[in-house]
Amino acid sequence: MNSSPFRFTLADPELGPDAARYLLECVEEGMISSQGRFVRQFETEFAAVCGVEHAVAVANGTCALHLALVALGIGPGDEVLVPSLTFISTANAVVHAGAVPVFADVDPETLCVTPATLAPRLTSRTRALLPVHLLGQPCDMPALLDFARSRDLRVVEDAAEAHGAQFSGRPVGSFGDIACFSFYANKIITTGEGGLCVTRDASLAARMRLLRSHGMNPERRYWHDEIGFNYRMTNLQAALGVAQMPHLLAWVARRRQIARRYRELLAAQATDLFFLDEPPATRSACWMSAFFLRDAAQRDPLLAALSEAGVESRPLFSPIHLMPPYLQSPALYLPVTEAMSARGVLLPSHTKLTDTHLAEIASLVAAALERTAAPHSRRAHS
Ligand SMILES: *Cc1c(COP(=O)(O)O)cnc(C)c1O
Repeated sequence: MNSSPFRFTLADPELGPDAARYLLECVEEGMISSQGRFVRQFETEFAAVCGVEHAVAVANGTCALHLALVALGIGPGDEVLVPSLTFISTANAVVHAGAVPVFADVDPETLCVTPATLAPRLTSRTRALLPVHLLGQPCDMPALLDFARSRDLRVVEDAAEAHGAQFSGRPVGSFGDIACFSFYANKIITTGEGGLCVTRDASLAARMRLLRSHGMNPERRYWHDEIGFNYRMTNLQAALGVAQMPHLLAWVARRRQIARRYRELLAAQATDLFFLDEPPATRSACWMSAFFLRDAAQRDPLLAALSEAGVESRPLFSPIHLMPPYLQSPALYLPVTEAMSARGVLLPSHTKLTDTHLAEIASLVAAALERTAAPHSRRAHS
């Protein structure tokens, strides 16, 4: 089906049986740009899944984060607390808004920021938090909201990887002032490229709609009260999103099963790795199944051995604070971020994988672990 050199790819988007028909409707109706019914329908359906009233669809997840920060009035002179263990665009969006990302460490159990990891990074310029539900694992949002409220900070959730995840039965996206999603091709719902902001606040939603489309006055066409952006999502993208929405919760359930299966299969076959336990209050979207090596030195040889065996895998995100655009002097040290980043391996986690595939991948991983183990630990297994 795909032209990848790997037998098992990390991601393989499932678009749903209606995708081609909806796209054809856009083409036949000539509604291929950002006007058209699919955009509104996608927004309405996605807002409902998040348990909020308003959604604003945009061109990609990075635009969504930027739009959210600008709509909240975050700009020059402001600092935004972000994890370093995330995709680079979490930090970039803060810079695009003219503010400064201040990197915080994460909790070793969830890989999410917590009040304890954020507190040491507060300054008099801190204006907002941008917690990331990493790999689909929800942050402890009630604790973060308390932390923010007592300090008058805004909260933007980066839920790019967490479509359909919950904390205490409440959907991610319903906690922050605004929450942002991405629909890039490897995300749980994909529109090729795409993003979306959700909020309970009607005036923030109106502000985001205005800024999304060049700051054009909604009552007076081609009259612009301020400088906005062209961040609109097309009807074609939204058609793909609408085709997938009926399947979202089933796909999340399957991704959770996939994570559980890998854990059972690998725990039975290998000892030089560990998994994170999901806290009882959360329902992770399990965007990507991850395991962690006890010996960080094994990570790169393991990735190479997996690639040779036809299994596409990837390292967990590199810490942003150690990459050239964000290096500080003296270097910032975030121990949990650095230790977990160096040990994390992500496995194929898409919903086209059958249980037979998972068993086969787990055996290939176990064999690759065996082959790449340091000599002393190899002896321990044999
Ligand atoms: C994918 C992703 C984004 C950015 O989304 P794009 O649609 O690629 O711009 C932001 N944050 C996180 C955590 C992501 O995984």
